[in-house]
Amino acid sequence: MSFKNYPMVSRVVFGRGSFDQLEDILEPKRINTKAPFIFLVDDVFEGNAWITGRIPLAYDDKLIYISADEEPKTSQVDELVEKIILDHKDRPSGIIGIGGGTILDLAKAVAIMLTNEGGAKDYQGWDLVKTPAIYHVGIPTISGTGAEVSRTTVLTGPDKKLGINSDHTPFDQVILDPELTKDVPTDQWFYTGMDCYIHCVESLNGTYLNAFSQSYGEKALELCKEIFVENSLSDEEMQDKLMMASWHGGMSIAYSQVGVAHAMSYGLGYLLGTKHGIGNCIVFDHLEEFYPEGVKLFKKMKKIHNITLPKGLCANLDDSEFDIMIDVAMSLEPLWENAIGKNWKQSITRERLKALYKKM
Ligand code: NAD
Ligand code: ZN
Repeated sequence: MSFKNYPMVSRVVFGRGSFDQLEDILEPKRINTKAPFIFLVDDVFEGNAWITGRIPLAYDDKLIYISADEEPKTSQVDELVEKIILDHKDRPSGIIGIGGGTILDLAKAVAIMLTNEGGAKDYQGWDLVKTPAIYHVGIPTISGTGAEVSRTTVLTGPDKKLGINSDHTPFDQVILDPELTKDVPTDQWFYTGMDCYIHCVESLNGTYLNAFSQSYGEKALELCKEIFVENSLSDEEMQDKLMMASWHGGMSIAYSQVGVAHAMSYGLGYLLGTKHGIGNCIVFDHLEEFYPEGVKLFKKMKKIHNITLPKGLCANLDDSEFDIMIDVAMSLEPLWENAIGKNWKQSITRERLKALYKKM
């Protein structure tokens, strides 16, 4: 038996207003004046001087606005890498992602693909990346995914939605400034926050559970309950605590796995483009048979925060479309093995998944 030897984020700053320190943090990392820092920034912040005014641009540094309307694609990563290589003679000093999981994942993938040959799709899977990525920094502006701490970057490729899971994926530096999340709309706050909650439920109820994952998962779950159920915190406390819940939830799945909701949500995402947070919510709402207590509390939180989830996503799909979603979901073997156990194929049949998808 061999134990996994995981890398972690090597440096992290936490605090309201810590985003102001970005310039001081980056300065020593500049290789030379021709090797730029490339800032990948969610386009929701275009024209928002409170955020963009604090992005320290010098020399050939570049700020690229990116829409988070669609989740990252391998082709999008390849295009960004090509543009950066064409526009700059020197390899960048670093890539800085400022946004939610979508932008953080793009930043990680671009940093990897600037030093590795071929296309991003060649690296979807486990431990396929050979060369260390260039210096990359993650600055989350919405909390829940754990993308700021994880060892993966989830990409939709030509034939699968799968992460680049590697020792070179985690950020070299993360800036956790909860104040950056203050303007997230309520629905989105709930969907992305529930991603964290679902990470906890799937990790804590999985067969891979161990004391490492449990310690992080329990803390994240406790924070989620304070934030989404108890309703006694100030806005600032909620922002601070959800940022730490996201971190702990991400740490919890580092040494275990996610489960049924994520497997099925990947199917929805691949076929219909349903985004991760809302997709997980839509799926999880129907998973009482797998996670009875977790789903019960989820429904309660939905009610407290007045959230109505979309219905009928799969109402007009034909058999071949159901097959595509089922193929994607069932290909994620480690998730099922974590959720159900080694013999998961005995109970997780195509018919069972189809019946579940039909409810969504
Ligand atoms: P997101 O990045 O897709 O953003 C959701 C919405 O919130 C967007 O419209 C965005 O513009 C907006 N937004 C972000 N910050 C804001 C702010 N401060 N104010 C106002 N609006 C803001 O959302 P997400 O849920 O954080 O990320 C989902 C992505 O994360 C998916 O692509 C998923 O695959 C990925 N993910 C990755 C991991 C990982 O470990 N790498 C884990 C879970 C999910
Ligand atoms: Zn997730």
